[in-house]
Amino acid sequence: MQGRPDVIVVGGLDPTAGAGVAADVLTLALLGCRGRPVISVLTAQGGGSAARSRPVNPDFLRLELEGAAAEARVRALKSGALGSAGQVEALVAFIDEHRVGPVVVDPVIRASLGGTLLDAAGVEVLRRELLPRAFLVTPNLAEAAVLAGQDREAADRDGMERAALSILERGVRWVLVKGGHLGGEPCDLLAGASGERSWLEGRRVEVRSTRGTGCVLASAIAAGLAAGRDVEESCLTAKTFLARALASSPADGPAPDLVSLLRALDRPGVGSDS
Ligand code: PLP
Repeated sequence: MQGRPDVIVVGGLDPTAGAGVAADVLTLALLGCRGRPVISVLTAQGGGSAARSRPVNPDFLRLELEGAAAEARVRALKSGALGSAGQVEALVAFIDEHRVGPVVVDPVIRASLGGTLLDAAGVEVLRRELLPRAFLVTPNLAEAAVLAGQDREAADRDGMERAALSILERGVRWVLVKGGHLGGEPCDLLAGASGERSWLEGRRVEVRSTRGTGCVLASAIAAGLAAGRDVEESCLTAKTFLARALASSPADGPAPDLVSLLRALDRPGVGSDS
């Protein structure tokens, strides 16, 4: 493939840059893609306070999406936080009209510091309209329970499998249920609509906060898909990338720290004279 693949990332602006499109664009750059950022919600968060958010108007989101697609070689689209039912509808209309794909949906409902980003009406449209257009959806256990319509989060692998099956019934091609919040070594379930099942094992890296890890993982998967890799390889490569980003974060600082990873990879950053 010639040139860098463009990947549209739709999500929130987190002023700490730990999560949201700031983390997405950095991840994509590190993995050889050009992230085209589309802001769905502005958030005010950091310093331990719960996130407050201001969604942009759906018509404006659509304009942003059109801008992101203009003169681009769009090879994938990743969505993170969406701020309203109207925004989900605008995104769905854009996907249908431009036939963009593959679409990776990180179904962000709450900010890690607390604060709802997508309300119940928005979640309903996401389940009904966006999931059938998704190539892959990447819920954590709490999000998987919501998407599956279950009262309780999965507490073991059987529960993860039940949640995955129910999400696949929504018409999504693949689901990656992230098991990191269960104890022990993190293990994710990759399940496909044709009956495929793989347990993707990982190694736990202890960090102060896991905020932003879902964003980095989904963006890294989108980078793999944009480069033409298959879904399982994209997920495995993304998990390795995330583990490296976590491991190279300073003990007392934010994690995943992509700027530290950038330095660890010895790639010159902006302002470097090398
Ligand atoms: N997007 C925004 C703007 C956020 O603030 C957050 C979490 O706080 C997320 C996405 C989700 O982040 P995570 O990667 O922790 O799931």
